[in-house]
Amino acid sequence: MLQVSALSVSYGSIHAVDGVNLSVPAGAIVTLIGANGAGKTSTLRAISGLIPSKGRITFNGEPISGLPPHAIVARGLCHVPEGRLVFANLTVRENLAMGAYLERDRSREARNLDYVFTMFPRLHERLRQQAGTLSGGEQQMLAIARALMGNPRFLMLDEPSLGIAPRLVQTIFEKILAINREQGLPILLVEQNARLALEVSSLAYVLEGGRVFMEGPSPRLREDPTLKAAYLGA
Ligand code: ATP
Repeated sequence: MLQVSALSVSYGSIHAVDGVNLSVPAGAIVTLIGANGAGKTSTLRAISGLIPSKGRITFNGEPISGLPPHAIVARGLCHVPEGRLVFANLTVRENLAMGAYLERDRSREARNLDYVFTMFPRLHERLRQQAGTLSGGEQQMLAIARALMGNPRFLMLDEPSLGIAPRLVQTIFEKILAINREQGLPILLVEQNARLALEVSSLAYVLEGGRVFMEGPSPRLREDPTLKAAYLGA
């Protein structure tokens, strides 16, 4: 569904992403793992059109390279950024309304709202609370829910476990799996917690220094001795 070929991103003389190829099949969870500074976030930002890049990106068979972010999100490719970036001064309800900004069909918006409240009951309890006062885990739920309000056909999640209490990390990953299974929504997941990422995904890419250093089915990579030593603490 998403095909990335020879993707490169540079910041001045720094080659953050250097000839990355990756693909995400329909309905799959694919993870992109790697150490700090490996180029994971830059890859997602390039796919979303937030930063300039070289290479070819196709979504549903159509080229999207060079399109502005608003045109890419309008095709259903939704990005939940690192650090969540909820609108801190708006309430939970207002953040969800912002996610539905492009939705013209009010009954569909209401159905999406019901779905996110079923998925994240805690958000329903906190509708009038300012988003900036939610806990890290609750903000992550809100960021995912906000993306779901935009009728995504594809989700990109950047470090959903970052800065979240371990108890909530498990919950968030269960929700990610449920969203993928219930909606058949393909997900490209960037994650530093390699163990969890390899558990929920079917395919994985390991980035190192902006390049794909290893790729394959997640169950196989979980058992790979090099990966175990470098990323899984074995
Ligand atoms: P992390 O897990 O720490 O978020 P990452 O794998 O997501 O890392 P990137 O954030 O994509 O990696 O960064 C890749 C490289 O590009 C790093 O060396 C980083 O310092 C550099 N970089 C990222 N953003 C910028 C920027 N705006 N200007 C200059 N260099 C940048």
